[in-house]
Amino acid sequence: MTTTTSTPQPCDTIVFNGHLLDPHASPEPSADGAIAISGAEIVAVGTSQAIRSEWIAPKHIDARGGVISPGFIDAHVHLSGYLAAAARYVEPVGEGLFSGGSNVREIVPFVAEMTAMTLPPELTATVLRPAFAAMLKSGITSVVDAGSSGHDGIVQAANEMGIRAAIGPSLADSWHDDDGVVIRQVESGPLLDAAEAWLTDNVSTEGLVSGLISAVETIACSDELLAGIAQLGEAFDVPIHIHSHITEPSDRAHIDVYGRTATARLRDSGFLSQRCVAMHVGNAKKADIDAFSETGVTVNHNALGNAMLGFATSQHQAIPAMIEAGIPIVLGSDFAPSMVATPFESMRAALAMHREAVGTDNALSLEQAIAMATNSGVAVGRPGRVGRLEVGQLADVVVIDTAGIHHLGDRHPIPSVALRARPNDVRTVIVNGDIVVEDGDFTAIDEYEVLESGQAMLASMR
Ligand SMILES: [Zn+2]
Repeated sequence: MTTTTSTPQPCDTIVFNGHLLDPHASPEPSADGAIAISGAEIVAVGTSQAIRSEWIAPKHIDARGGVISPGFIDAHVHLSGYLAAAARYVEPVGEGLFSGGSNVREIVPFVAEMTAMTLPPELTATVLRPAFAAMLKSGITSVVDAGSSGHDGIVQAANEMGIRAAIGPSLADSWHDDDGVVIRQVESGPLLDAAEAWLTDNVSTEGLVSGLISAVETIACSDELLAGIAQLGEAFDVPIHIHSHITEPSDRAHIDVYGRTATARLRDSGFLSQRCVAMHVGNAKKADIDAFSETGVTVNHNALGNAMLGFATSQHQAIPAMIEAGIPIVLGSDFAPSMVATPFESMRAALAMHREAVGTDNALSLEQAIAMATNSGVAVGRPGRVGRLEVGQLADVVVIDTAGIHHLGDRHPIPSVALRARPNDVRTVIVNGDIVVEDGDFTAIDEYEVLESGQAMLASMR
């Protein structure tokens, strides 16, 4: 769609001469696409010739026949987990802490306590600046914190680095005692009051950082806490995220404790809605999928993290079934303690995992993988405003170069992005209308200084 006027209109930035990436449509591929950006928004989309005759801008970015893509998302990172990078590497003996979806009895108390820690903002911010820099350089423009401590430092680092982030308190009031029995450990009222205070101070409808409120796991929340989180989500108009339906053993453990399925409790507490992002969902059965589909839930899938941690969730084939049911899926890494994942790694992990699990090479299409990696709206609390190259969308845009030797073959934008692109191909990254990376380098950040400070902070923690 373009605006037709006789005199050119002013805008801030024109990106031209590229394939516009749209996984939902399959137009005749053309390298003649362009967009115009004014302030934080995309104001026009069309051919290079039309955009350049109808708009004038002080800044023109030539995509050189590559791909102009909506920004990518990492919809699931425990950002304070990067502090664990302070630990020296030793070759592991036996299974890791989170292996196999982990033992519910051990992991729920651990995570509940981890997300309730107090961390000095400067500590978290200094370690997270290089992590955000690495995400941005690989084309990630949106990141969702799935439960961390040190929120104030995370907000600070996201604003300093120029990445869109959704962050907020992660709550739990029930976990296992020493005998392995799930009991109420803390009152939900003060937890909800503290979350409300944080959201009051931090939720904004503008800017890069938006609020969310999340739950550690369905098993770790009383009915009152689930209902309270749902009400706060409504009151502040922010997403509500919950780890749920992770593995078969975690779902069984939930039924043992509450006598009902996680889906039944989530539905009865008012948690399932269009603002809900159910995280993981490796073990959804037909009743769960029907409930998610009817209530408009978005599901977050973490192919790379699940595979690397040996969750063995793809055997249930829940993700292909939920795509079939029309449930929006948004891709995350859930791999914060050990690496900064790129969107290309996450998409290829999803493709490999589901095709292998189902045993066909059409179990997940390239278009579906790209849609999962760019579908950031609900997850970052900006539903309908990010994730597509359309007029009125917030300008989170990535230019991917396809001239490299590894792009041998048809330069159709779908295989170029889903199969061939590498982080070094990311030439330009625009977040909220601001050019953060240009020609592969940060415009306003010294990435080596940011890395040195982060490394020094980690070293001081050893
Ligand atoms: Zn998680």
